[in-house]
Amino acid sequence: MREAMPAEMESAERHLAALYGISKALASYGGAAESFPELFKSATAAVPIDIMVLVERGETLARTCVEKREGVSTERVEAAVANARTSLDYYTTDHAVPVTVESPASRVPPIALPLTVGGFVLGILYVETSRLPGEVELAFIDALTNQLAIAIRRHDAWLTAKESILSRDNMLSVVSHDLRNMLTSILLTTQLAAEMTPGPEREAFNEKGLGLIRRSALRMNHLLEDLLDTASIDASRISVSCEPQPIAPLVQEAVELFQAQADTKGVHFSGDVAPDLGAVHVDRDRILQVLGNLLGNAIKFTPRGGTIGIRAEPLANEVLLSVSDTGSGISEDQQPHIFDRFWQAARIAKMGTGLGLAIAKGIVEALGGRIWLTSKKGEGTTFYFTVPLARRDSERARMIARSSDLLSPGELASH
Ligand code: ADP
Repeated sequence: MREAMPAEMESAERHLAALYGISKALASYGGAAESFPELFKSATAAVPIDIMVLVERGETLARTCVEKREGVSTERVEAAVANARTSLDYYTTDHAVPVTVESPASRVPPIALPLTVGGFVLGILYVETSRLPGEVELAFIDALTNQLAIAIRRHDAWLTAKESILSRDNMLSVVSHDLRNMLTSILLTTQLAAEMTPGPEREAFNEKGLGLIRRSALRMNHLLEDLLDTASIDASRISVSCEPQPIAPLVQEAVELFQAQADTKGVHFSGDVAPDLGAVHVDRDRILQVLGNLLGNAIKFTPRGGTIGIRAEPLANEVLLSVSDTGSGISEDQQPHIFDRFWQAARIAKMGTGLGLAIAKGIVEALGGRIWLTSKKGEGTTFYFTVPLARRDSERARMIARSSDLLSPGELASH
């Protein structure tokens, strides 16, 4: 017993040193890409690890980090990554995928531990060792997993806080810049009018000046309304009061509201509303606001002689609406930002607030629909969004869908 002590002490010391290294790396954790190599280095001082894989659950895709001992083959690493991803699926999809923790390339069973905080799985830590780990080593990997989960959670919270501070600063600078521009034009106009001597010249100036002041005030009001809508969307408090609305008159009204603007710009509308579309379950004013944003943009970005198409067609239990234009288009690298607040392809004075599409997205989602776009630079853009059919219509749509399983297309047409 006594003879075994030095070896045990040596092992305990090794683990302590490794834990110290890990705590240090996690204390200054700056994201997996930055800190994972350091963690691997510390962990290998305590456990004979061949490969260590971290798969983090992102919002849309999983991010993977891999570290390996020298001499481990690429094939074995690839198999380990595939295994780690399967293990993550196992923990995140109600155990729908059977977990495969047999690595064909390793003789020792691998370890896959979920990174969990507050019951939520943030990712997976997958480890392949060169020999079966002992109890202390397993406890060490377990502790590493728990600490790593906390560090990832803390880092995510820090990133979110940083993003919201940045977005608030950005909002303040854009809003104050736009408001100052509009106020300056009001102040200059009133100052010039006050300095002019009374007479016909001043009368003429005042008439034009009043129009300018009114336009500036309207734009300031528009900006403030957009800001209030954005704040409500952020707080998930956007007010929508939905009721069944026939879709065709809604589309018609939106087109009529923008007809004069389109005529002035020299672009023409073409409408295509599928017959018998029935009613949708929406907030009438909010849908007009979405269509207004899309039509206003389409007119703004389409040159004279262009065409703007507005379509409504059935799509399962929804109606698919689209606004297409033959305008400037949006390049592929800009498309992912299009629904961001205050985003504009080019900041052009007096062209808008950069809030319209963010608001449109907030409204469509509050109504239970989706919004997206397709666009080609120089050729044009189409924005699509869906809205749910009103209940009776959606039941009818389901019945038609069901009967289409049983009836031939000819028989279905006669229904
Ligand atoms: P804005 O009030 O500035 O128009 P939006 O959120 O409505 O704000 O639009 C953001 C940006 O997206 C626009 O400034 C423009 O760069 C781009 N955009 C929107 N719609 C179109 C379109 N139909 N064609 C080309 N670019 C568009």
